[in-house]
Amino acid sequence: MLKWKKFRLGFLETNCYVIYDTETGNGIIVDPAIPSEDVKKYIEKEGVKIQYIINTHGHFDHIGGNSYFRDLTGAKIAIHREDAHMLTDPLRNHSEWTGVGVISPAPDIIFDNEEELNMQGITLKIIHTPGHTRGSICILVNNELILTGDTLFYDSIGRSDLPESAPEKMKKSLDKIKKLSPHLWVLPGHAAPAKLAVILEKNPYLV
Ligand SMILES: [Zn+2]
Ligand SMILES: [Zn+2]
Repeated sequence: MLKWKKFRLGFLETNCYVIYDTETGNGIIVDPAIPSEDVKKYIEKEGVKIQYIINTHGHFDHIGGNSYFRDLTGAKIAIHREDAHMLTDPLRNHSEWTGVGVISPAPDIIFDNEEELNMQGITLKIIHTPGHTRGSICILVNNELILTGDTLFYDSIGRSDLPESAPEKMKKSLDKIKKLSPHLWVLPGHAAPAKLAVILEKNPYLV
């Protein structure tokens, strides 16, 4: 059975998710904003074997815990090609303005398009959804959940007026999500999760 838990981390209140299969223990961390004892304790308590640390995009508030969790778990860091450079560049990942430059290790896995990652018990389908950043992705998990990062929130969408944004691509990216099953749980990068069916009804950007 697939199990997920949300942790709200860092001063931008980023949602970090631990998702795992209760049978095999295989799991992933998505968007570790900062090093977190709470997440560490949860992983240990549940006996989760973290295989991948996946960043929905390269902004500092989604990658600040990469280094910590890679050291802790030995998992591989994965991000889309078009955001990969942001991991190691505090100027590009916007951490410089906070006064504390965030640097992640370089990625072990680079997504180019719509690839799949398979673990026993968990299938991840990567959907490239440029807009908020050029390398933003959504992650479909077992056709039950979709992690949308800063592309889609409950009642709004992510900014696309930043230097690394691709505003002209946002609409097409949202169209990709709209076509998915309304039964999916949407786990966004900030604020509350909801069923896609509810978001399709409430979110003015999807009408
Ligand atoms: Zn962002
Ligand atoms: Zn964010």
